[in-house]
Amino acid sequence: MFDYLIVGAGFAGSVLAERLANEAGKKVLIIDKRNHIGGNAYDFYDDAGILIHKYGPHIFHTNSPEVFSYLSRFTQWRPYEHRVLTTVEGKLLPIPINLDTVNKLYDKNFTSEELEQFLNSIKEDVKQIRTSEDVVVSQVGRDLYEKFFRGYTRKQWGMDPSELDKAVTSRIPTRTNQDDRYFTDTYQAMPLHGYTRMFEKMLTHPNIHIMLNTDYKDLKGVIPYNKLIFTGPVDEYFDYCYGKLPYRSLNFVHKTYDVRQFQPVAVVNYPNDHEYTRITEYKHLTGQTNEKTSVTYEFPCWNGDPYYPVPKPENAELYQKYKNLADETPDVHFVGRLATYRYYNMDQVVAQALATYNKLSQRTLAEQLV
Ligand code: FAD
Ligand code: UDP
Repeated sequence: MFDYLIVGAGFAGSVLAERLANEAGKKVLIIDKRNHIGGNAYDFYDDAGILIHKYGPHIFHTNSPEVFSYLSRFTQWRPYEHRVLTTVEGKLLPIPINLDTVNKLYDKNFTSEELEQFLNSIKEDVKQIRTSEDVVVSQVGRDLYEKFFRGYTRKQWGMDPSELDKAVTSRIPTRTNQDDRYFTDTYQAMPLHGYTRMFEKMLTHPNIHIMLNTDYKDLKGVIPYNKLIFTGPVDEYFDYCYGKLPYRSLNFVHKTYDVRQFQPVAVVNYPNDHEYTRITEYKHLTGQTNEKTSVTYEFPCWNGDPYYPVPKPENAELYQKYKNLADETPDVHFVGRLATYRYYNMDQVVAQALATYNKLSQRTLAEQLV
């Protein structure tokens, strides 16, 4: 008899398994329908011996000292600040848009103050910022929006930025200085030996049993457990009773080239050319040396694994219906990107799982006191 059955061995499920086993002494069974742990952060050595990310580039960054120090129990880190270039009109330019982006694109020599004045003169006056188009045109105007954001977003999401919630493009700031880092978080680093190794350390505990290649639907009613933590899609759990929540998927094409370096930075974006959105070269992330190099092309699509909840008002409404059902199911805890239908980064999922554990352990304490 297990105290907890945890569905999904990504960040959400693995953090909870670790806390419940290690801290609360619970007996945990964690299952995943895939043949590996780590969820979408899973990495592995390919045929060339290069550490690559099966589900696209995962770059760790957080402002939370709690999350960073928690994960540091299971890994050492390699300091890494992410930089991305984007291809516009045959030029390779920094994204997020900064002083150098604008100067190189328009052959200008603006200072930061001059760029601010320039942006003030071209930005559009949007009364209420609701959509992903509003966010960008209200900061940098139409021309930069069309060159850097419109094509990329249409490809990535299969819809125009004017149809997507503002949250999506709000992830990308605009800068008037030369800071070309993708993130400005306090902690930016990659797990020194990769994500999978970190997950292995989290899940190595006598109270944690792992079953891979196991779908929850095949286990229902077969294995006895007390409580359930579900980190798969919330609509799947409730048999799609209100209809399917939309997810954007990606087709990852991994390639190895017989050159030491393929591109100047880890990620290069293609907003206007090709069917893929970006190419990632892993050696920049890991610092690995190898005669060859491995890269991943990302082709967005609708069919495939659910990766991105689609932030639109009607989807938020549909999710709310499932959330109401979830709230009425107290012995099941829904945690993670899929179970709470949120476009969360890894650190946010870790924080959500730690908060869930705190709630669970308080409840256990209260039950013991009664
Ligand atoms: P997941 O990692 O999706 O884990 C859920 C697990 O549940 C999966 O392994 C799945 O197989 C399993 N499962 C689902 N249903 C069932 C079932 N019925 N039975 C058994 N198992 C089931 N975040 C960052 O912070 N930085 C990044 O650079 C970054 N890059 C990303 C790039 C891409 C292409 C994508 C898609 C995401 C990226 N993220 C990034 C987000 C990150 O992947 C997520 O925040 C994190 O992986 C979510 O963890 P999770 O445990 O909620 O979900
Ligand atoms: N985006 C864009 N052009 C870019 C980079 C990002 O239009 O060069 C938009 C796009 O809609 C994307 C969103 O900003 O989905 C968030 O970008 P991020 O890099 O955070 O996407 P993720 O890594 O989550 O795929």
